[in-house]
Amino acid sequence: MIPPVADRFVAGEDAAAVLDHVRRMEASGVKSICNLLGEHYQERDPADEDAAAYRSLLRDMPDSLDACVSVKPSQLGLQVGPSVFEENLASIVAVAEEEGRFVWVDMEDYTTIDTTIDAFEANVADHPEMGLCVQANMKRTDDDLRELVEYPGKLRLVKGAYDPPRELAHQGKAAVNEAYERHLEFLFREYDGTVGVGSHDPAMVERAIELHEEHGTDFEIQMLMGVREDAQVDLAREYEVYQYVPYGSRWLSYFYRRVLERKENALFALRAILS
Ligand code: FAD
Repeated sequence: MIPPVADRFVAGEDAAAVLDHVRRMEASGVKSICNLLGEHYQERDPADEDAAAYRSLLRDMPDSLDACVSVKPSQLGLQVGPSVFEENLASIVAVAEEEGRFVWVDMEDYTTIDTTIDAFEANVADHPEMGLCVQANMKRTDDDLRELVEYPGKLRLVKGAYDPPRELAHQGKAAVNEAYERHLEFLFREYDGTVGVGSHDPAMVERAIELHEEHGTDFEIQMLMGVREDAQVDLAREYEVYQYVPYGSRWLSYFYRRVLERKENALFALRAILS
């Protein structure tokens, strides 16, 4: 069981718990992107096990729920070998297609970007119910987006959670924000698919709404479980909002990341532990 405090950010340890959470969020108008926690596998077995867990989650999702999944390349075996990742991804996409569900592919550190984009492009032409995450902090993203807008599917723009070598990335919050806004403008102008605005930043969400009003491009707002949930519910009254919902037994390192990334989260955890 996920202990109190951590359960603000993680839905539970198993599929039943995540589906309960999805049901609760849907009652408040917010849809869900389910992510089984796991990454950086160096062996094939856990990668195959997680791929199987995603396939059964997709099969078990009740028709009444508007939910999808988001997978991490290194969870599906990218570090074991690109072919392991590609096979596992293809198996999940095939089941998602049978079940009428959407599959997102998260973006991890800079060493994985080429293989991740290649695998997305190889699948999405035949299976357009797929989306890829791109990171605004990476300098290469201008070029990547010019290529990716030619494909169907959805693209989720995030600021970037990893720490790439200095020469490959925009440095400092202001430069990343500037890149994020530039990419939003490009996507809303040039992309026929749906733009996923993966940010808690009110300024970026407002800019996306303005761009939607200007260009009419489809978009959805995506935020993490436990972060600005009131805003998620408010925004969902007018726009499509998805919550990214992590679950699974490997929750501890994810929870630490959430606590350490922001003073308010650390205070929330400390208050709960002391009370
Ligand atoms: P920040 O720049 O961190 O903050 C900007 C402003 O947002 C703050 O000033 C505040 O007003 C508001 N804000 C931010 N956090 C909080 C909070 N906890 N409580 C209240 N207000 C807050 N990264 C990847 O590298 N790869 C991925 O695949 C990936 N997928 C993601 C999927 C989703 C749905 C989301 C939301 C994020 C994902 N990320 C991913 C993480 C992302 O790259 C950022 O690290 C993370 O979202 C923080 O950036 P931000 O845009 O939310 O805002």
